Amino acid sequence: MSEPVRVRYAPSPTGFPHVGNIRTALFDWVYARHAGGTFIVRVEDTDVARTVPGALGAIFDGLRWLGLDWDEGPEVGGEYGPYFQSQRLALYKEAAERLVAQGDAYYCFCSPERLETMRAEQARRKVPPGYDRLCRNLSPEDARECQAKGITPVVRFRMPLKGQTEFDDIIRGHVRFENSTIDDFVLMKSDGYPTYHLASIVDDHAMRISHVIRGEEWLSSTPRHILLYRALGYPPPVFAHLPIILGPDRSKLSKRHGATSITDYRDDGFLPETMVNFLALLGWSLDDKTEIIPRDALVKNFSLERISQTAAIFNREKLTWMNGVYIRQLSLDEFTQRALPFLEKGLPDSIKRPLDLDYVRKVMALIQERVRQLTEVAELSLFFFEERLAYEPAMLIEKKMDAAGTLKALQVSLERISPLASFETGALEAVLRPLAEELGLKTGQLFGTLRVATTGRAVAPPLFETMAVLGKERTLARIKAAIYKMGK
Ligand code: GLU
Repeated sequence: MSEPVRVRYAPSPTGFPHVGNIRTALFDWVYARHAGGTFIVRVEDTDVARTVPGALGAIFDGLRWLGLDWDEGPEVGGEYGPYFQSQRLALYKEAAERLVAQGDAYYCFCSPERLETMRAEQARRKVPPGYDRLCRNLSPEDARECQAKGITPVVRFRMPLKGQTEFDDIIRGHVRFENSTIDDFVLMKSDGYPTYHLASIVDDHAMRISHVIRGEEWLSSTPRHILLYRALGYPPPVFAHLPIILGPDRSKLSKRHGATSITDYRDDGFLPETMVNFLALLGWSLDDKTEIIPRDALVKNFSLERISQTAAIFNREKLTWMNGVYIRQLSLDEFTQRALPFLEKGLPDSIKRPLDLDYVRKVMALIQERVRQLTEVAELSLFFFEERLAYEPAMLIEKKMDAAGTLKALQVSLERISPLASFETGALEAVLRPLAEELGLKTGQLFGTLRVATTGRAVAPPLFETMAVLGKERTLARIKAAIYKMGK
């Protein structure tokens, strides 16, 4: 039997989770779910100086918002914890000491000042930067002497100076690096914290990780990892490096393209189901043409083999379009529930609270079709809630009409609909449609005038539905207000 599938998402709390980070989390999660495996979250918090307050909370919020639940990790625990690297320091120390004892690593006593001078010199001579290996062959006596002086060393990996390191990547195929191009990289820093390289290898092994699925930017770290696995005697996991994400202009994804924190998309009115679908298509495809792939279908059909090597393009217009599709698929109750917080936030304070939920639901039914981001609901439905509509009287006068004809149309409309006992769509239409002909107007003219009178806008949801939702009292009051405006 093959090893169980165990996949980890290993965020560092050094920044807010952007599209690229969360795309990795999604692919990790989807693969684990597809394979019936375990999804693990491990926090790589060993870079104390670069830790950003609030970043970790935002990472968890993002995962929760998208429904990327984890089986092991912070908050849920698990057999292989703790899941914060800062709580596992003893393990890294032990591994580093073992590597030194084996001769695969060495203590380096070079001071930050010396390294600084060395780098400046390398830059001046235009040679590639890298540690000059001064301490690589220190004698045990020299090392002891440095230690006696109270210098805390770092531990560096003793890179083979020749040869190549090769591995297979599910997405990139066979990959080969020249060892001579790789530095004697640091494993343990002088503050007692491991570097990412050491900690991730120790943990991927200790946590029985079977698949490392991560962004392409880590591909060049992988030969270091392979050599560490070998030195520690650990079997390496399967690697899959996801393609880079670029903006539509093929430049690196930046804030300008929307590379903001993932929770900004929530605040911008995108649905989590849209986001999951959209992110999945940043590098993976079902069949090169299907765009709408809901979560269940994604989990069912996902495969690492269908991840592309070529850069994925982040297209914000496609995201907005897709969100409209998902919004239209919501039931009215679901849509209302999701829209409500945006309505509360977006409607001006002057509108009486609490909002009448029954009324809100009817209004939502009329705008759901047109919403592409939940942030639009307040603007699209504002006139349903406003006490007084602010519009220029001239807007009431339709093409090929004059002020007198408009006033008359409004007055007669008011007369005809005032006695209606039922203010339903059908009843309104039955009265107003024939009225246009009676007044010698095109229906477009009469309805246009009434639309502006009742909504203050030239473009709004269908007229009779709108009047029915507004209700008799509001509709009549608005037509009267329009008559007053025209009469002035
Ligand atoms: N902590 C690394 C990051 O922030 C993880 C890289 C990896 O998955 O190995 O992306």
